[in-house]
Amino acid sequence: MAKKDYYEVLGVNRDASDEEIKKAYRKLAMKHHPDRNPDNPKAEEYFKEAKEAYETLSDGQKRAAYDQHGHAAFEGGMGSGGPFGAGGAAGFDFSDIFGDIFGGGRGGGGRSNVQRGADLRYNLEITLEQAAHGTETQIRVPTMAECETCHGSGAKPGTSPATCSTCGGHGQVRMQQGFFSIQQTCPRCHGTGKMIASPCKDCNGNGRIKQHKTLSVKIPAGVDNDDRIRLSGEGEHGVNGGPPGDLYVVIHTKPHAVFQRDHNDLHCEMPINFSTAALGGEIEIPTLDGVARIKIPAETQSGKTFRLRGKGIKGVRSSSHGDLHCHVVVETPVNLTERQKELLREFETINNEDSDRHNPRAKSWMDKVKDFFGQ
Ligand SMILES: [Zn+2]
Ligand SMILES: [Zn+2]
Repeated sequence: MAKKDYYEVLGVNRDASDEEIKKAYRKLAMKHHPDRNPDNPKAEEYFKEAKEAYETLSDGQKRAAYDQHGHAAFEGGMGSGGPFGAGGAAGFDFSDIFGDIFGGGRGGGGRSNVQRGADLRYNLEITLEQAAHGTETQIRVPTMAECETCHGSGAKPGTSPATCSTCGGHGQVRMQQGFFSIQQTCPRCHGTGKMIASPCKDCNGNGRIKQHKTLSVKIPAGVDNDDRIRLSGEGEHGVNGGPPGDLYVVIHTKPHAVFQRDHNDLHCEMPINFSTAALGGEIEIPTLDGVARIKIPAETQSGKTFRLRGKGIKGVRSSSHGDLHCHVVVETPVNLTERQKELLREFETINNEDSDRHNPRAKSWMDKVKDFFGQ
């Protein structure tokens, strides 16, 4: 099969800078790394392709040779007689790049085949009351657990896995490509270092099976949207004895019928009828901790906000409660009876005798309108 052009593989121009080449390779390596695509055999192929292209194009000498001779520059025949002698053929060390991309994810020995299990994310929907007061709940999460039949070995009971003869159990092999030596995941054992002659039937030789587990989660009072609660070690099992990952429970609060939350403050709409707004009065309003009473002063207008100190939420990391803001909406009465209409007409008649005094806002608005139209 004809080899693909290295520049095409990385998706860069022929005059791309070293930085561009490195960036393009990182992107591809992240996307196609076999560890991230366990079920996609094509991924490994793409990954190797990108790796090979990067190895060549990131080295000034090799890139120059490739630009001049194409793939022929690296074919066996050129050997030590090729454009840059045997000395330049040392294996390329990828550990710096892998260190960046997969930071901390691997065991101490660099590219060892011991791997930490994946972190899991669980989206938990709770009510505003639960967020405010805290709660304890049970969640059911899918997980990969050690196969009980083979105790994680992946081998049929009574048999045991043999050491991979291709890589001697290292999971990595050095491949000679032209006169470069490249370290790759062992193609025979896919990095596990083991060969399983007769795989366990329950887990198909994986050593792990999908399961569900029920966990108890304590939600602290005051949590907000997107807060994460970490359940250490409750993620997926590690590979080859690696430590398990963590489980992150991510909080989502359901919309509330009365309150909207803004950090630790709560907001609510407070409709009052127009006679209470005009004459004043006292009304009851709900809070998250029971009922509170608000004194409405006479002549209260729509849009006025009453603040109830400390009736908001006490955030997880804050020392005091937020406030509750009640936004007044004066409600125009509907479904009026004949008697109500009669009283309102009478009211209107008296009101219009000195409307400037009773409705200063309307007067001020009319004045502005008149000014605007130059009357
Ligand atoms: Zn098994
Ligand atoms: Zn192997």
